Amino acid sequence: MTVDTMSARDHMALAERWGAHDSVPFPVVLSHGEGAWIHDTEGRRYLDFHGGYSATNFGHRHPVLVAAAKAQLDRLTLSTRAFHHDHFGPFCQELAELTGTEKVLLSNSGGEAVDTAVKIARKWAYRVKGVPDGAAEVIVAGANFHGRTTTIVSFSTNAAHRAGFGPFTPGFKVVPYGDIDALRAAITDNTAAVLLESIQGEAGIIVPPKGYLAEVRDLCDDTNTLLVADEVQCGLARAGTTLAMDHEGIRADLYTLGKSLGGGLVPVSAVVGRADVLGVITPGDHGSTFGGNPLACAVGRAAVRLLATGEFQERSRELGAYLHSRLNELDGVTEVRGRGLWAGVQLDEERVAGRRVTEALAERGLLCKEARGHLRVAPPLVVTHEEIDLGVSIIADVLS
Ligand SMILES: *Cc1c(COP(=O)(O)O)cnc(C)c1O
Repeated sequence: MTVDTMSARDHMALAERWGAHDSVPFPVVLSHGEGAWIHDTEGRRYLDFHGGYSATNFGHRHPVLVAAAKAQLDRLTLSTRAFHHDHFGPFCQELAELTGTEKVLLSNSGGEAVDTAVKIARKWAYRVKGVPDGAAEVIVAGANFHGRTTTIVSFSTNAAHRAGFGPFTPGFKVVPYGDIDALRAAITDNTAAVLLESIQGEAGIIVPPKGYLAEVRDLCDDTNTLLVADEVQCGLARAGTTLAMDHEGIRADLYTLGKSLGGGLVPVSAVVGRADVLGVITPGDHGSTFGGNPLACAVGRAAVRLLATGEFQERSRELGAYLHSRLNELDGVTEVRGRGLWAGVQLDEERVAGRRVTEALAERGLLCKEARGHLRVAPPLVVTHEEIDLGVSIIADVLS
């Protein structure tokens, strides 16, 4: 069958019939995109305020990223870690330099990076901290989102993410996000790490109380506990800085990165951090067939080059301040949360109609996602002031 001659209805019917029902996608069938815009098979054009959950921070098909991918497609795409390849070392160096870290472990999805960080923290606890074998604990925050692997859903507080998937991986404790006393009370001699999102994304773009992350850092230092920051979504310029923790002027021991690290072209993720902590990983411990592959590294290097100019961080800060001020003016909006070009827009009771709002936005040409009572606004960082004005006017229109 030729996809070009199929209608949107045909595509949706096939997806429904043959695809597992892991999502209820919007009734639009996307076919191509450029910058902050996406087109569907019916010839309609949408402004993208969804941003691929921050995987498309550079916009759709950024020319620098596409050129890097095309060049690499003509050279080498897979080597596995059984051999060296000529983008691996440079990518590790450039990513470490961008993030001010010492070592890099590459993988594919964000969930895989988080899972790997948990493994590293546990091994560090046994080999370095002296925790009795099998007793290591990792403390996480309520309303976290770290991915969907069996271990990660084991410490999720979202019932839908867990139901039917047990038995769960033990060794995790959950404390409320932003509550330093609860964290202090939870840490024991067996605590390997505290794992947190620097800004909680899926929970509604929740910025922790001022000073909280610095207190977490101090607590980790005092108790010889690792601080692991999940920056898969908030990192790499989305929050207006290279790492969202930079806002607080503190450093985590490990960071997990993903989403826009692959430029929205290919899945690329990483654990980056202290050399002595990542140093617990030795040959044979861990591995991934596709992790750090030549195509991923070539595209990742181009993404890092874009970030190294600081332009995207600056755009995020500047356009983000503008977006927040525009959203705060709207009727029906009770709170705008977030940092940089990233907003959790809380709607008042009357307007909390979940999908009704976002479907009405899509009908008017704006793609945006809701989650439990709020709209998540995360346009690609290449969006312009005029495009923000357009998107905000569509939101205003739907809310009234
Ligand atoms: C999306 C996300 C993940 C999981 O990434 P996948 O690539 O979907 O596995 C992990 N942590 C955070 C904070 C995320 O937003």
